[in-house]
Amino acid sequence: MRIEEDIKLDYKDVLFKPKRSKLESRRDVRLERTFKFHNSGQEWEGVPIMASNMDGVGTFSMAKVLQKHKMLTVMRKHYTVDDWQKHAKGVQMKYVSVCTGTSAIWNEDAVDYQTMKAVLAMYPDIPFITVDVANAYHENFGHFIAKIRDQYPDKTIIAGNVITGEMTEELIIRGADIVKCGIGPGSVCTTRLMTGVGVPQLSGIIECADAANGIGGHIVADGGCVYPGDVAKAFGAGAHFVMLGGMLAGYNESDGQVVDGKIQFYGMSSDAAMVKHGSRKDGYRGAEGKVVSLDHRGPVDLAITEILGGVRSACTYIGARRIKDMPKCTTFVRCLNNVNTVFGNS
Ligand code: 5GP
Repeated sequence: MRIEEDIKLDYKDVLFKPKRSKLESRRDVRLERTFKFHNSGQEWEGVPIMASNMDGVGTFSMAKVLQKHKMLTVMRKHYTVDDWQKHAKGVQMKYVSVCTGTSAIWNEDAVDYQTMKAVLAMYPDIPFITVDVANAYHENFGHFIAKIRDQYPDKTIIAGNVITGEMTEELIIRGADIVKCGIGPGSVCTTRLMTGVGVPQLSGIIECADAANGIGGHIVADGGCVYPGDVAKAFGAGAHFVMLGGMLAGYNESDGQVVDGKIQFYGMSSDAAMVKHGSRKDGYRGAEGKVVSLDHRGPVDLAITEILGGVRSACTYIGARRIKDMPKCTTFVRCLNNVNTVFGNS
């Protein structure tokens, strides 16, 4: 047994230290970034914030709003080819990723994988493939990424989840371009309670970004953002992209059954998701996600304006003209208490 003695940090454990700045207004900040990806060799320009592939947020209507802000949507993996044919009209494919799980490791005919292939054949302009599994530390996940890289040499592959440097490197070496980083920080995730596994997200991102930068890869900080300031902190910590689930849930463009006037938002490893998608309850698998009931929050555009406004403002406080400059302009101060809670937390 070994213990790493230094305390690992989460978003709530730090604040940006404000710095003297030459920026005159928030308008001087550029949120778009241009990336050139290590394995696909492709370039992409946009605002590096993406909707998660969760049922509740990775929807066609979400994509139609996010694309106006040049933000990405990873589409939920359970959409059928028929769904794509019916609802993809008006979606700009440049801002979309398809998504598959890993069932094809055992069965090439797995529905999610075959759907992904069919969708890519129908919409060849989709630049991204997301390969999503709760625990990407298995040897066969690396083999699977290598196989997809061979099949789709020009697609930019987002793969995960992991939260350590060595596995970030491994996935990039196997063919991933953007490694999805986060084990257990999610709003409807219970992995840390069920298994005791995880690394606090801010420290995890710092480690994974450092590993990816070393070999020309990129990472997306996936999960754990509660406030716009957390998105800014993820960029400050070195994340190239940030993925959001709960912050985009419960809006007009989100999805979820309405029960007693409340919108149901569930984790993709929850019992609710397993029942909905007919996943195996084989006696070995416990649920690692939960269901929450949300008040209806209105149009998601309001949330996007808040998020982008928060990141912009953070940039002006630290003197970063571009998101790309945030890590080099960032000094975090550790804190025990970062908000005044007289009137609650928000
Ligand atoms: P959020 O932005 O809501 O904090 O986190 C979103 C992320 O949580 C997703 O992108 C995904 O990686 C993760 N996630 C979604 N559902 C589940 C679940 O049921 N269990 C676990 N462990 N993680 C989940």
